[in-house]
Amino acid sequence: MSRKVNWHQTPAHQLPLEERLQGFAEVNLGYTIEEAIVEAQRCLQCASPACEEGCPNHNPIREFLYRVAEGDLLGAAELDWTKNALPACTGRVCAWEKQCEGFCVMSHRGDPIKIGAIERLFADIALQRLEEDPGAIDLRDPDYEPREQRVAIVGAGPAGLAAAHFLARKGYQVTIFERWALPGGVMAYGIPEFVLPQKVIDAEVRRIQAMGVEIRTGVSVGEDVTIDQLFEQGYSAVFIGIGANEPSRLGIEGEDLPGVWTAKDFLMRTKAANLRDRLAGQMPSEWLTPPEVGRRVAVIGAGNTAMDAARTARRLGAEEVVVLYRRDAASSPSRPIEVEHAQHEGVTFMYLVNPKRFIAGEDGRVAAIELVRMQLSSPDDSGRRRPVAIPGSEFILPVDTVVVAIGYQQETQIAESAGLATTPWGGLIIDEKTGATSRPGVFAGGDCVTGPNTVIHAIAAGRRAAAGIHQYLLQLAEGSGSSRGAGRGVLLNRG
Ligand SMILES: Cc1cc2nc3c(=O)[nH]c(=O)nc-3n(C[C@H](O)[C@H](O)[C@H](O)COP(=O)(O)OP(=O)(O)OC[C@H]3O[C@@H](n4cnc5c(N)ncnc54)[C@H](O)[C@@H]3O)c2cc1C
Ligand code: SF4
Repeated sequence: MSRKVNWHQTPAHQLPLEERLQGFAEVNLGYTIEEAIVEAQRCLQCASPACEEGCPNHNPIREFLYRVAEGDLLGAAELDWTKNALPACTGRVCAWEKQCEGFCVMSHRGDPIKIGAIERLFADIALQRLEEDPGAIDLRDPDYEPREQRVAIVGAGPAGLAAAHFLARKGYQVTIFERWALPGGVMAYGIPEFVLPQKVIDAEVRRIQAMGVEIRTGVSVGEDVTIDQLFEQGYSAVFIGIGANEPSRLGIEGEDLPGVWTAKDFLMRTKAANLRDRLAGQMPSEWLTPPEVGRRVAVIGAGNTAMDAARTARRLGAEEVVVLYRRDAASSPSRPIEVEHAQHEGVTFMYLVNPKRFIAGEDGRVAAIELVRMQLSSPDDSGRRRPVAIPGSEFILPVDTVVVAIGYQQETQIAESAGLATTPWGGLIIDEKTGATSRPGVFAGGDCVTGPNTVIHAIAAGRRAAAGIHQYLLQLAEGSGSSRGAGRGVLLNRG
């Protein structure tokens, strides 16, 4: 007799609303082991799992759900780590509703399997188990062997950490060079603690270090050491995963007034202040105090960064936080769950408005924004309806602090100094199959290639590039018997 299908999702736990604004504690709390097993047992084990098609990294979801349903949580983690370098992080930050869960066939008649909450549960448990017993899970690939070749990775964001993880699984000697004081990239200095706690990133990083990966923080490649020097020091290949961390600007009057923050600085400083004991002595002391926000905060933009900034402002004591967006609610690019959390936490939204200028008060700080109302007209190149200003609709909104969260761009300095080909907007040009850049021996992936994207896309790019580097180093070793000369004109077969 066939098993009765359970169409209803097991609800996951959340921090009670009344506790959220008292600090930066994680809001989504996930499942207990028993709940995760019950939820995984709902999976139909489809012959062609649509959930895996929906995952940009094609994580082995069906099989890990099977293992969880059988109670084999470590087996589920071991399998997931063959494709996903950071499951405890993706289990917290992915846009499941648009990706795996959005594709799950269960949603045709009922609720999709809550894949993200299950992934984070088994990843957390496996990470804890590995701390107690490093041999509890075999993280090596079947063709692992200790290899002499060294690979340098620039940037310890999800792309760089993933490249390191997959190269270490093969036995390469990997060193990551990271500019910031902590590894993790935007996960560590952008995504707030209440979404992705630093201790979760730390646990994933410790696991990667335990595989033999060395991480040197506080090193800016291009300034402290160049790509050429890395090759001279004996690295056989370099992976660039430096992200897209240059905040976009509005280009309007008053943008440099005190009290007007870029979302990057606002979130970075809040994160650094939360970690002040750990970061003391590694950065200027003013960075270790949280931003003073006053009573009224306006956040410009409506993406995930804007939601993170708005929710952070509430936790920093702002009584009124308003998100200002030039399009309508339906066009908002943020995850619905983030908007829902923001609304529950008292953030309000004003749609179809655009800032024209920031106005200083008597003390020289920002005191108001001149806004203009917008309407949506015909679709632009992106297919979205273009917002246009309504003449004469200007009005003034008093504020104490403004956070500009309208996106990020790539930095071009490394590409220029290392002679790497870029797109007109500064993205590194790569071979999509291998991650190879225009310079032999140099690979790249993540936001520095695509522009701002997501953690799982960066992990997928790091994994692809690790495979490309592996093939490159095998060819290099076959061709010359050594890896010397890499980075100086060895031709790469891109077939
Ligand atoms: C506020 C915010 C919230 C977000 N929320 C989500 C979310 O909820 N879910 C999601 O999936 N995605 C989210 N994203 C997007 C996601 O974080 C990024 O797409 C992802 O981190 C990109 O990974 P990456 O490794 O390419 O780059 P990054 O994470 O940017 O990492 C690049 C690293 O390289 C380092 N670096 C840069 N230059 C140098 C240099 N010259 N030398 C040495 N190191 C260098 C940087 O310090 C950084 O650590 C968010 C982004 C932001 C800004
Ligand atoms: S699509 Fe849904 S039901 Fe099918 S294998 Fe994936 S999670 Fe299970």
